[in-house]
Amino acid sequence: MRESQGLITAGDPVAKKAAKKLYIESYGCQMNFSDGEVVAAILGEVGYRSTSQSDEADLVLLNTCSIREKAEQSIRKRLAHYHAVKRKNPRLKVGVLGCMAERLKSRLLEEKAVDLVAGPDAYRDLPRLLGAVEAGSPAVNTCHSKTETYAEINPVRLDSNGVSAWVSITRGCDNMCSFCVVPFTRGRERSRDPQHIVAECMVLWQDGYKEVTLLGQNVDSYLWYGGGPKRDFKYASELAKATAMDFAQLLELVAQTVPAMRIRFSTSNPQDMTEDVLRVMAAHDNICKSIHLPVQSGSDRILKLMNRQYTNQSYRRLIDKIRDILPGCGISHDLIAGFCSETEADHRDTLRLMDYVRYHFGYMFAYSSRPGTAAAKKLADDVPESTKKRRLQAIIARQRLHSSMRMKEQLGRVQRVLVAGTSKKNEGEWYGRNTQNAVVVFPKGSYQLGDWVDVKVSDCTPATLIGKAVGLA
Ligand code: SF4
Repeated sequence: MRESQGLITAGDPVAKKAAKKLYIESYGCQMNFSDGEVVAAILGEVGYRSTSQSDEADLVLLNTCSIREKAEQSIRKRLAHYHAVKRKNPRLKVGVLGCMAERLKSRLLEEKAVDLVAGPDAYRDLPRLLGAVEAGSPAVNTCHSKTETYAEINPVRLDSNGVSAWVSITRGCDNMCSFCVVPFTRGRERSRDPQHIVAECMVLWQDGYKEVTLLGQNVDSYLWYGGGPKRDFKYASELAKATAMDFAQLLELVAQTVPAMRIRFSTSNPQDMTEDVLRVMAAHDNICKSIHLPVQSGSDRILKLMNRQYTNQSYRRLIDKIRDILPGCGISHDLIAGFCSETEADHRDTLRLMDYVRYHFGYMFAYSSRPGTAAAKKLADDVPESTKKRRLQAIIARQRLHSSMRMKEQLGRVQRVLVAGTSKKNEGEWYGRNTQNAVVVFPKGSYQLGDWVDVKVSDCTPATLIGKAVGLA
């Protein structure tokens, strides 16, 4: 391995003549995609070179998601596909990583669906597991770790545009929301050493990247006190407590270390977001003015059943504070329609909250019960599917209305856009995002990928701002 800014970087895999080819297929959240890049770095060290073509791979790893039943069904279909491919190409090895690996453990091996199973804390063990596969032994490791953050590993950027990258800052979650599998699949919350986070951002800057997104299941809960689970902080020494770093401090450190880089973060949990974080955002131009703030429901009764640690009122107060400290800040949400026992009145509370916030955009889902969660064990999934669907449609329609209103607010204004790629709908246009995280498209002209461009908005859809470049920023 070579060392760069204190990070361990996979040796140049292209130089490894007999490199085997690794294809990683990631599903679900950004954390999963980011983990895929850590896995590519670990396996790069034992001679695997990443490929974007599954049909030339020696090893296929499905990096899986268990958050919803539908996600698991899609992965089951992909496993069936690779099972068929393996019949034609017995040399091909197939492994399952991520949350589904953790949830289904050796069942996947017993079903002979895969050769290897590794949970989110077991990726350093992949070289040994591959050896076990070669030796015909069971290859499964789904052990949880209290300390693993892959802190010093410099990820191999997969499918990268060379402009934006993810940097992981925490792993796991302690919140125990009653509908969520994450605390079971990803374990207890741990924070990554800030020195490694900063070093990774520096390497990205030197490699030409212009934007980083600090990632974690609950970034606002970040707490570095020398390593270990967050819940053990109370046992830390007085010195460790006195020198501990929270998310506001980390955000400021990153903003100051790479002042010309744009910084985003995700995901925030309403109960953990502090005024200090908002003030740091306000103080640094390079921190984007957008916050993803999942609310899940507008009903206090449902929030309590979900074990969310805030109320409709405290959430509104937080929104007011954001509006006060960061006027114009983009705010997005996650919402679940049809959670256990949800009534029409609860649903109306959700719509009223949406009207209060008028979110810029959101991710909206019908509730699906996940085995092993508190909700699956203790609450009846008793809202008929047709009702879930109807309420979800109402939520989506309301969001479209609000997104449209938010987009129209930008008409005639100049947006600073970081060019991230070619527009999916028009080869002749670039797309990028403004500080509020809205997609902006404009004619390419002579601008290049990675340029900062000022774009005057002349039109919009509920999802996209459309404009013309007025010059380099
Ligand atoms: S905050 Fe709640 S929903 Fe988010 S990962 Fe943690 S337990 Fe799951």
